[in-house]
Amino acid sequence: MAERSCGECTLCCKLMGVPELKKQSAKWCISCDQGKGCSIYDTRPQSCRNFQCFWLMDENFPDDFRPDRIHALAAFNDTDDSCVLHVDPAHPRALSSPPVNALIDALHKVYPRVFVLSGKESALIQR
Ligand code: SF4
Ligand code: SF4
Repeated sequence: MAERSCGECTLCCKLMGVPELKKQSAKWCISCDQGKGCSIYDTRPQSCRNFQCFWLMDENFPDDFRPDRIHALAAFNDTDDSCVLHVDPAHPRALSSPPVNALIDALHKVYPRVFVLSGKESALIQR
């Protein structure tokens, strides 16, 4: 099966912080051509090169769960028993949407703890 690609999704370039650029989370990177890609792709920082959201890594997640479609992305945390769901603060209702709830259920099958980050808000979901 062909590997997944980000396509028109660029949501991590908004939701994730990039230490090398002093880019805060939940703010668009100035180098992001939204919906297209990185305008400094060949020289992008190492943390951008390293980053993959779960949707990109795992083809078991449906296409409909692509982060730009559900306004949220799931990614590793720094502890093995948890992951982080980053929700776009511009879409506060995303957290209660059916696809995001289905994603949280799927994450809980692997991770006992799912942290939710949305701008300055954070929460721990345990089911
Ligand atoms: S959030 Fe995932 S699918 Fe979207 S651009 Fe980033 S790595 Fe690619
Ligand atoms: S440098 Fe490029 S890949 Fe990294 S956050 Fe900015 S736009 Fe995205």
